[in-house]
Amino acid sequence: MYSNKNRTIQPSYKSNQYHSDLFYRSLFEFNPDTVFFLDREGVIAQVNRVFSEKLGYETNDVILQPLETFLPEKDGELYQEVFKQVLKDQFKRIHTKLFHKNGSYIYIWLSLIPAKNDGRVVGVFAQAQDITKEKQADRLNEHLAYHDSLTDLPNRRYFETRLKEEIITCNVKNQKLAVLYLDLDRFKYMNDTMGHTLGDVFLKKISDRLSECIYDKCFLARMGGDEFSILVPNLKNDKEPGEISERIIESLARPFIVDEYELYITTSIGVSVFPSDGEDMDTVLKYADVALYKAKEMGKNTYHIYTTGTNNPTYKRFILENDLRSAVDDNQLELYYQPKVCTEHNEIVGAEALIRWNHPKWGLIPPNEFIPLAEEIGIISKIERWVLYTACKQTKAWQDANFPPIPVSVNLTANRFLEKGFIQTIIKILEETNLEPHFLEIEITESSLLVNENVVFSILDDLRRIGIQISLDDFGTGYSSLSYLKRFKGRIDTLKLDRSFIYDLSYEDSEDDNYITKSIINLAHHLKMAVVAEGVETMEQLQILNQFHCNTIQGYLFSKPVPASEFMKLMSFDQLEAYSGKEEVDSSKLLEQRVYQIDYPILASMTINRMNGSRAEMDSVEVLIDQITDVGLRFISKNRLDHDQISVLKFNTEILGERVKIDGEILWSREVQPGIYHYGVEFQTGEHQPFIPFHLFY
Ligand code: C2E
Ligand code: MG
Ligand code: MG
Repeated sequence: MYSNKNRTIQPSYKSNQYHSDLFYRSLFEFNPDTVFFLDREGVIAQVNRVFSEKLGYETNDVILQPLETFLPEKDGELYQEVFKQVLKDQFKRIHTKLFHKNGSYIYIWLSLIPAKNDGRVVGVFAQAQDITKEKQADRLNEHLAYHDSLTDLPNRRYFETRLKEEIITCNVKNQKLAVLYLDLDRFKYMNDTMGHTLGDVFLKKISDRLSECIYDKCFLARMGGDEFSILVPNLKNDKEPGEISERIIESLARPFIVDEYELYITTSIGVSVFPSDGEDMDTVLKYADVALYKAKEMGKNTYHIYTTGTNNPTYKRFILENDLRSAVDDNQLELYYQPKVCTEHNEIVGAEALIRWNHPKWGLIPPNEFIPLAEEIGIISKIERWVLYTACKQTKAWQDANFPPIPVSVNLTANRFLEKGFIQTIIKILEETNLEPHFLEIEITESSLLVNENVVFSILDDLRRIGIQISLDDFGTGYSSLSYLKRFKGRIDTLKLDRSFIYDLSYEDSEDDNYITKSIINLAHHLKMAVVAEGVETMEQLQILNQFHCNTIQGYLFSKPVPASEFMKLMSFDQLEAYSGKEEVDSSKLLEQRVYQIDYPILASMTINRMNGSRAEMDSVEVLIDQITDVGLRFISKNRLDHDQISVLKFNTEILGERVKIDGEILWSREVQPGIYHYGVEFQTGEHQPFIPFHLFY
């Protein structure tokens, strides 16, 4: 091995001894970790320099001390156990801490290695690898994973973990707990108005205020956005959740100073109690949420404690909320269009776009049911952007298809006006859809004008400058006063007279009603505003309105709001016919119901079942059904049927492979071409109800 002949060759074991001593001493001294040698009693016999550097002790202070002196007390037993095993010639590693002289500590992996001489374990080499940094990073990550970064409050995940633990405690100790679910009223609106930076400061202050006003035992978390939850463990009595809710509401009533603003906020609170309201976490949380919606319905700034009666209507609303969030993306929204008709020649002079939601489970949901909800949950702006875009695009498409160009009107909620970049959004949509601005009309209600008059005025002026028309919708239902109207001279192009004024018009009584309506029309004309009468249903109303020089009509008399494809058909007529009375109103009623989604027309055989109240025997004839809804159907036939005599018709057909028998009564009829008749039929209720699977309606 050693070829140098001049060198004195040491006995090989001595040479190894020498090298390994040096090697081990270096390994010991220059080890970047803390290392020490312990004798068989566990007493420190030797330490390296890093030990002093890391832990602040002089070497002499630690020699002859048991290592446990520097470990946390709770790890003592484990260490003893492990040490014994190392003396039996095993390698061991434990996770613990080493205390610094100043009382702080470092996290370490402590490796214990048997030190042997002549095959006998004479002591233990110990190496302490400092993992404090990793540990701190872990702890930070853990903190971030369980806390909300803005308010530093526990987040939803932490809340749920804690709730699960508390539920177990409740079960073991037979206790009750409450969950309070808070949602700040109109916060999203304020946030949009004042900007998100200030909004964040505001939220932080609100969360501080909440932390101050709850009891020590409570656990407060931010669930996201403007929602907070409070867990109240170990309820003393049934009144406690209510008391805490009142404290919160009271405490939020004081103003908040954010920047130089003095801001006010209220909250709605839903409460549910474990185990009386739900026996697991999900149910307790769900019912707190249901109760929260009840509190919102009750007018906000209040709390509601869940009871089984809370459930029904609100539960639908609760489900709707979740679904509404994805309705736009899932293409469940649709625009219907209702014509505005000029009665001089009965031609369509405009269309109002009215939104519908085709809910996969609940069917067609009217706007009044979900627009307020959309506002509440802060997605109205997305929906209204969709409405604007879709209506403009559709109108342009009709123009491109050579229909006479007509303006489309779109309804906007009040807050849209206060949104930053509102005008830019509209301009962008007009550019994207290539629609000229004067074909777009915006309908606002009086309440929009009350939000902030100066801002609204300047926006109205901007819109009109671009060429967009403005209508004041539902005039007469809000705070309308005739003198107030004067202020909008030159800012509003059209006044839409609310249906309630039209409903009361009649030749017979209610002279006063006629007079008021007439006066409003006159005043509007005087202020250079056009007038559209909404909700016109009868010929009588139409005639009176014409006498009052109100010639633009929107109402079932001419047409209900219809899908775009049907509206196109209406536009293809030179003139619209007015259909008054029960017949036509009912015919359009069928249109508005949920329509059975199949390929029309379908062939059916039809017989008359009853005539003049008695059973009729007649051969069946073939008819074409062109629409089925959940309340009736329409069919086309060459037979003229007198519906004063025929009471019950019987249809036999096949829908999606299913044989279907339908009984119904004729509601209306119309000769569409010479010798071709269109009929509307209402299903008979009761045992003869046709079998039509509900989910096939939209
Ligand atoms: P609105 O703007 O006053 O729309 C007219 C409402 O009256 C429509 O109800 C229409 O179907 C109904 N109507 C029209 N003619 C007659 C009639 O002769 N008789 C009766 N009884 N009713 C008639 P709809 O479509 O249910 O809309 C209700 C309200 O929802 C609208 O009132 C409007 O304020 C709001 N809305 C509709 N679409 C939107 C939208 O896209 N965005 C916003 N923000 N609101 C919308
Ligand atoms: Mg409207
Ligand atoms: Mg209206």
